[in-house]
Amino acid sequence: MSYLMLTGGRVVNSGGSVDADVLVRAGKIEAVGRLAALSIADIERIDCTGRLLLPGGVDVHTHLDAPMMGTTTSDDFATGTRAAACGGTTTLVDFAMQAPGETLLQSLENHRAKAHGRAVIDYGFHMCVTDLYDGATDEFAEIVESGVSSFKVFMAYRGTLMLHDGAMFEVLRKSSAVGGQVCVHAENGDIIDRLAADLIAAGRTGPGSHELSRPPSTEIEAVRRAIQIARMADSPLYFVHLSTEGAVEAVAEARAKDWAVAGETCTHYLTLDRSLYDAPGFEAAKVVLTPPLRTEEHRDALWRGLRAGTLGVVSSDHCPFCLEEKRRLGQDDFRAIPNGGPGVEHRLLVMYAEGVRKGRISLEKFVDLTATAPARQFGLSPAKGAIVRGADADIVVLDPHGSTTISAETQNQRMDYTPYEGWTLPGAIEAVYARGELVAQNGKYVGSEGRGRFLERSTL
Ligand SMILES: [Zn+2]
Repeated sequence: MSYLMLTGGRVVNSGGSVDADVLVRAGKIEAVGRLAALSIADIERIDCTGRLLLPGGVDVHTHLDAPMMGTTTSDDFATGTRAAACGGTTTLVDFAMQAPGETLLQSLENHRAKAHGRAVIDYGFHMCVTDLYDGATDEFAEIVESGVSSFKVFMAYRGTLMLHDGAMFEVLRKSSAVGGQVCVHAENGDIIDRLAADLIAAGRTGPGSHELSRPPSTEIEAVRRAIQIARMADSPLYFVHLSTEGAVEAVAEARAKDWAVAGETCTHYLTLDRSLYDAPGFEAAKVVLTPPLRTEEHRDALWRGLRAGTLGVVSSDHCPFCLEEKRRLGQDDFRAIPNGGPGVEHRLLVMYAEGVRKGRISLEKFVDLTATAPARQFGLSPAKGAIVRGADADIVVLDPHGSTTISAETQNQRMDYTPYEGWTLPGAIEAVYARGELVAQNGKYVGSEGRGRFLERSTL
């Protein structure tokens, strides 16, 4: 059995960094330490002097090949996972949507089939519950036992995705009874629908109105309500994509009381400003994503929330729709623009540049937020999220002296734009190993096809 050794780099884990060599065998990390002098036959040595060795990114919020708002996300499991790998993410947890008229188990099986043999990195699923038909919760135990240990509910999008409070309560308590956890999209959908109708009636049909229909309070109210509903259900709760200062405060209050409430934010809420909604023409549709981008005040609160540990995870919410597709569906009515944007490829580097290099978070915190904590939160530890003996050899080689320019022209995401167009960031991801296999080099996918494995996740 042959060996691989990454020599001379600086190994960064959430608990600390150390100059060390990493020995890999059969897809696993065999040892971390001063190993260069070891004489081993049949070994490939890669010089990583001056490089950072990071655990492969774990992105627990993506929507690949996902039916949504009358269309399907532009990246499927082949293209989306290739893009992820090129950007240093080696594990995804993707949302399996419940399709209208289908049982949860049927929808899960269909989503599984989309990923199988196509994904190039390891993946798991969350099960979205959008219709609590009779008997739906009876399937929860089987779903959790099959390794899908988390559910998702929406408090917005009435008529398609939204569950009313009673149904959400039921999902929470039945999920926690079988050891699952529930991810919540927290926005007050009914009020958003009213505000959106007002804007349309006033002739404000353009994409910039998306933001106006979803003011911060629509998130904050829903976060506070969900926390209380989870208390009544005696269930843990995980908030996806928090975007506001008030949401961070609500989660902090709950955590101060030792309630099992966790929160995530996304790359774009930390780095992009609401002024993008003021762009002329249809341009603002690029950032018609949900919740919308906010002001600097909210961004500062999110960074503080990350530093304080109130928010524990940064995900991409990769939910890509090409601008042409957004235009086709929503040119005359912003409510019909599919909500979402790309991000799985650039999450790691944008967080490194905007977080670490701008002095907002430490290198170790960056690793925690993008790999270690999401792996732990969603039952993927200890195999994923750390460079330690016995873990999967998912390793990112990052050159801190390099630089990277992001562009739609060169990205691997199957998209006709990126919100980070033209950004030049410090740092370059030179190589990415997934279970010991070199899968990406300098932004190009070089691994084998369909190599990703389904990950059975454990319960909390
Ligand atoms: Zn999402």
